[in-house]
Amino acid sequence: MKLIVAKFGGTSVGTIDRIKSVAAKIKNEVNNGFNVIVVVSAMAGETNRLIKLVESLTNDYRTSEYDTVISSGEQVTSGLLAIALNELGIKSKSYQGWQIPFQTDNNFSKANIKEIKKDKILFDLNNGYVIVVPGFQGVHKNRVTTLGRGGSDTSAVALAAVFGAERCDIYTDVDGVYTADPRIVANALKLETITFEEMLELASQGAKVLQTRSVALAMNHNVKLQVLSSFENKKGTFIINERQKSMEETIISGITYTSNEAKITLFNVIDKPGQAAMIFGALADKGINVDMIVQTSTKDGEATDITFTVLKSDLLSTKEIIENLKNTIKFKNMVEDSKVSKVSVVGSGMMTKPGVAKTMFKTLADNNINIQVISTSEIKISVLVSSDYTELAVRTLHDAFGLGKDIKTINID
Ligand code: ASP
Ligand code: MG
Repeated sequence: MKLIVAKFGGTSVGTIDRIKSVAAKIKNEVNNGFNVIVVVSAMAGETNRLIKLVESLTNDYRTSEYDTVISSGEQVTSGLLAIALNELGIKSKSYQGWQIPFQTDNNFSKANIKEIKKDKILFDLNNGYVIVVPGFQGVHKNRVTTLGRGGSDTSAVALAAVFGAERCDIYTDVDGVYTADPRIVANALKLETITFEEMLELASQGAKVLQTRSVALAMNHNVKLQVLSSFENKKGTFIINERQKSMEETIISGITYTSNEAKITLFNVIDKPGQAAMIFGALADKGINVDMIVQTSTKDGEATDITFTVLKSDLLSTKEIIENLKNTIKFKNMVEDSKVSKVSVVGSGMMTKPGVAKTMFKTLADNNINIQVISTSEIKISVLVSSDYTELAVRTLHDAFGLGKDIKTINID
């Protein structure tokens, strides 16, 4: 069976007319001899609307009920698309998460996929049906679960992996993955290809085009992914395993940013073994993810400062947890700063080419942008800067690494 999984995001199914054009696209794929599993998001804005309804009642809801409400957007779209396909003479059937079943754990509102049963869908595919699956939703012991915001991407990749699809096409409102956010950088370029590792870094550092989990899943299961526009008829960006020859000269693939983190500094923490374990252990126990961490070298062997970042949405609880530790870790004071952005340059080329950090830091310095925290991986350098300078930092770095030109090789000495 020549199977493709095609996922359509919220704007792609935002109106009845758009659902009709999605149906026409699928009809084309069927006419080209493909079996198709379609994964749909809720219509644009619908999930936000549903979350607001829940929160207008209380902020102290059971996440299992929250999932019951917010999974419904996808259910509507899946039924509508199946009807639209049938109208075009294409046999089609929708399957809700619980009908497949698409089993997850019981982490309501951010569930992890455990198992996807194949038999019913396979039977229908063999009988020539196009299957429409609502993304984002699963089931745990008869209760509906959801996979976290943006989770339809992960639903699509998981289905592509389980059914051994030739390709997983992620249709969205942009035509691919760009060297930077085109709304900020006018000459940002669309990438023809990008590696899974690079995409993983870009997604986790703020590029919103794919849910980070979906990229990790695709990488682990070798799912061929393409991000493309549902409004235009052209190739998108392919996310691939290995750098191609044409990418060899590329050092940096993209610049990205996120403004959803806040910085906390603890001054004069007693300098003895176990302090960091205590701080970050207490945060981890409450499910708070810490991103950047810096400990300054001990001043006189007695005290040290520790700076770290957490999601802004976790800032309040983080402060409470740390306050409760005050008597144990004996820091002098805690200072928070929410007006920060993390700007990252990402590219596999930096593994073998020195000078990327130098170019990055010099560019920021030339523009009078102060670096507050630095963190790196093999293929990424991130800096925390004042959020007043987010756009300036992204733009000037994009230029400094020559990303707006067709030739992405620059001399970085
Ligand atoms: N509708 C969900 C959301 O808005 C899932 C998705 O679209 O991927 O987060
Ligand atoms: Mg999305």
